[in-house]
Formats: sequence, structure tokens, C-alpha cells
Amino acid sequence: MIYFINKKFIIFLACLFTMIFLSSIYINYRSVATFSDSPVEEELFFPAFNVHVNDTDKVVALTFDDGPTREYTTKILNYLDAKNVVATFFVLGIRLKNNDDILIDMVKNGCEIGNHSYNHKQFLYLKNDEVKKQIEYVDNYVRNVTGFSIRSVRTPYGEYNQRIKKTIDRPIVLWNIDSEDWKRKDASKIAEHVISNVQSGSIILLHDIFDFSYEATILIVEELLAQGYKFVTVSQLLELNEVNGDGIVFWSK
Ligand SMILES: [Zn+2]
Repeated sequence: MIYFINKKFIIFLACLFTMIFLSSIYINYRSVATFSDSPVEEELFFPAFNVHVNDTDKVVALTFDDGPTREYTTKILNYLDAKNVVATFFVLGIRLKNNDDILIDMVKNGCEIGNHSYNHKQFLYLKNDEVKKQIEYVDNYVRNVTGFSIRSVRTPYGEYNQRIKKTIDRPIVLWNIDSEDWKRKDASKIAEHVISNVQSGSIILLHDIFDFSYEATILIVEELLAQGYKFVTVSQLLELNEVNGDGIVFWSK
């Protein structure tokens, strides 16, 4: 009899725990689903700080996302160094291991390292503590290896809303010239698009994960140097605007 009751009781407990487990999954799913439903156009791109630079200054910021990669970032860095040109690299956490020397070279060459998240997940679908973890991993890794404290964040896909902005609580730096290198796949076409749209204060988006982007970088730098442009990092560009930028989204237009 006691054995029988125990058996029933165990089955009851098993059912209870299964129900608790399943409902926790459901609640978790609901909270993620709520985020995925919430972003609307206006919320995604609420007004951002507009970088403004006097046209006579002729400054421009080159930025590279989604690296570092041994194959392409190294070539880009060597080329920029030879031309005495600086850029900003928005790095991914998953690409940092085994690339310490590249990070060290970036800092040594006067380039800036920016934070592009751990693994490029859409922040709009992550909870606040997950967003923080994504950012902290890159911050800590780069600081440990180079001593450099990252100041700027570029959210994956440039997506943000009020919640993300508040969670990150430091400058989110986007771009105003999207080279669309991944889509154009041709160095001349990429360079032509960038050069025909550039103006003082422009923030140019490229990716240091393709050979055509490296080739396009050469064409862009040669042309813009010939036109008298000076290359600055995104932090230097923001300093020219005399704003400290905490919690502000920068989007040059
Ligand atoms: Zn990216």
C-alpha cells in the first residue's frame, strides 16, 4: 500500500514538474515573442544626432564591420598604415580569438576599435542582460589584449530602439554611406558609389571580410586623399562635433 501511494505520488510530482517546466518555456517564449512584435519603423529609427562638420575641413571616417579576419583585416591595416590613414574597426567577439596581434596592430597604428557585439544577433530580439553580455565580452577581450577601452558601439544591422539605447548607454555610431560591398561584390562599383556620395563628416561602412572590400578601400583612399580629405576615427569625428556622446545615436547625414 505504501509502495502504491509513493508510486502515485511520484507520478503526481513528475506531472507537476513537467507542467512547471513547460509553462516556464512558454513564458520565456512569450517574452521573446513580445520583443519581436514590438519594433516598429519609428521606434527603430527615432531621430539620431546628426554629425555636422564644416565642409572646408574635409574629414571622413572609414569604418569596417564584422572582422577581424586574418585574410583581409591584415591587408587593410598594412595598406592604411603605409598611407598613414586611420579607420575604425567594429569587431565581432566571435572573431577575436587567435587574432590578438591584429587588435594590437590596430591600436598601434592609431586606428580605433569599436564594438559590434559578440555574435551579430539582432539586439531587438534579445533581453537587456543578453545585450549587455554581447557588449561586455568584446569590451573585456579588447581591453585585456590591447589595454584599449572601447568607446563606440555599432549595433548589428544598425538596429536599435529606446530600450537598446538605454541598455548600451554610450555612443551608438552608425553610418551615412553604406558601400553595400557585400551586395556589389566589385571593387570599382563599391568605390564609385562611396566616392560619388562622400562629403565632409561622412561615415563610410565597409566590411573587412571580403577581398573586393579591400580592393575598394585602396580605390577610395587614393581618391579621397587626392581630393584633400583627412581620415579620422569615429571618436575623432565626434570630438570635432564637441559632444561627449553618451547615450546618443550618431548617424551622419
Ligand atoms: Zn555587421
